[in-house]
Amino acid sequence: MTANKRAAKASEETLHRIFTIPVAPNSTLGRIENEISQNLAGFLGAHIAASDQALTEIEKDFADSQIPEDPAFVSDHMHHLLDKLVAQSVHTSSPNFIGHMTSALPYFILPLSKLMIGLNQNLVKIETSKAFTPMERQVLGMMHRLVYQNDDAFYQQWMHSAAHSLGAFCSGGTIANLTALWVARNNLLKPEGDFRGVAREGLFKALKHYQYQGLAILVSSRGHYSLKKSADVLGLGQDSVIAIPTDENNKIDCQLLAAKCQQLANENIQVLSIVGVAGTTETGNIDPLQEMAAIAKRYNAHFHVDAAWGGATLLSKKYRPMLKGIELADSVTIDAHKQMYVPMGAGLVVFKNPASVAAIEHHAEYILRKGSKDLGSHTLEGSRPGMAMLVYAALHVISRPGYEMLINSSIEKAHYFASLIKQHADFELVTEPELCLLTYRYNPERVQQRLASVEQSQQEEINVLLDKLTKFIQKRQRENGKSFVSRTRIEVTRYQGRKTLVFRVVLANPLTTQKILQDVLAEQVQLAQESETFLPQLLALS
Ligand SMILES: *Cc1c(COP(=O)(O)O)cnc(C)c1O
Repeated sequence: MTANKRAAKASEETLHRIFTIPVAPNSTLGRIENEISQNLAGFLGAHIAASDQALTEIEKDFADSQIPEDPAFVSDHMHHLLDKLVAQSVHTSSPNFIGHMTSALPYFILPLSKLMIGLNQNLVKIETSKAFTPMERQVLGMMHRLVYQNDDAFYQQWMHSAAHSLGAFCSGGTIANLTALWVARNNLLKPEGDFRGVAREGLFKALKHYQYQGLAILVSSRGHYSLKKSADVLGLGQDSVIAIPTDENNKIDCQLLAAKCQQLANENIQVLSIVGVAGTTETGNIDPLQEMAAIAKRYNAHFHVDAAWGGATLLSKKYRPMLKGIELADSVTIDAHKQMYVPMGAGLVVFKNPASVAAIEHHAEYILRKGSKDLGSHTLEGSRPGMAMLVYAALHVISRPGYEMLINSSIEKAHYFASLIKQHADFELVTEPELCLLTYRYNPERVQQRLASVEQSQQEEINVLLDKLTKFIQKRQRENGKSFVSRTRIEVTRYQGRKTLVFRVVLANPLTTQKILQDVLAEQVQLAQESETFLPQLLALS
């Protein structure tokens, strides 16, 4: 609550003002707007508090459930927002914050976003978006070509075709994955004879008609949880997502995958989809996509690749070969809001076959007429913003070679960081970076030696303490506010698949320097010494 709270009343006049009168340049809001445009990084640095306040404290500022009866002056409200919300938000664009998949944005994105919001186009139909519809279709075409590399003639034929679609633009990887599996489900359980298809008659009748005992979605144990959500929403149930173990490099074990497919076939359970992950969320590894595609083909399963995070790697000629086989996928998810430096709300899925989205087509009389080019007829979401414009602009302004430089530099930075960790006697690299993501933990040299020589029960005792130390360091580092790495729990082969707590680092911010990485490790060494219980206990054990 601001001290000098001025009173205002809702009136037609003030309402008219907020729709018509621009913010005065010398008003509080005008000044803030100016600062944001001139120096966003400086503004965020100045307004996001470096100290970490407990969430329960913050909740007290957001405790009132009454919708205000008296309107606030926008300047007063701005102060309130800066004080209570912005100050306690997360500095995701800081080059010292290397734990997130979404990071800094290029400057040109800000004014473009404002224009996009101002235009307020609704991509659900042409009537409310006009040129935005062909623009979005072009973005989908460009991303489709990035994956499948068809020729000009292909894109000329399909990109703007009313009855076809090269993909669907959506709010993120979750909806993209759901859309891919929705298409897969409806194509598998399509109309046949008297049966009018799963889209009309539902799953129960579909399974009866096709005489399947059930459906399954197969993905590695590193698969993203959005697949379980999708299975839930699509009526298959979360248990139909079957996790296949990975090898020591966090890649799906194709022998086990093939064996599971055969076992399911014997039980008359149809594999709806095999999902390859191209850049797992936790370790950044890429599945053997070519082998998976062959298995999917053998079992008549839709092959989907979840490249939400790693898909942008295709923009790098140097690293593109790591995703070999992605062009065999029936559908591919890519999040532009991860490694393409576009703000959140920009996900997409592309389909190899431009006709496959017909399986989820919906029409309504007043909107989305049959034969129209309205994008809403084959997207899960209805009203949708013009986010594709930001992807379109980024592709043009940054260009393919520009993206290549960003991607290569992130991957090389991850390799540099991995080498720092390996050189340091008191750190243990847990997963090597394949893309720009790696995991590690603080583990004093003496403890490492001890771990290597003792039997499993003693190993466990040490690892439990190391988990506690990892958590302690990660929390302290976050609370200190200078830098941030995330933490996750992953199965580690060298500890018999034990779920082990690790630091997780994503090196996507172009402004993160080698010096920053050295400082992150130095700070962690420092914080470890502050642990008054776990570190001494560990050292006593070894
Ligand atoms: C981030 C991510 C998702 C989910 O995407 P959202 O944009 O968060 O909905 C799905 N799969 C993978 C591999 C991801 O990294």
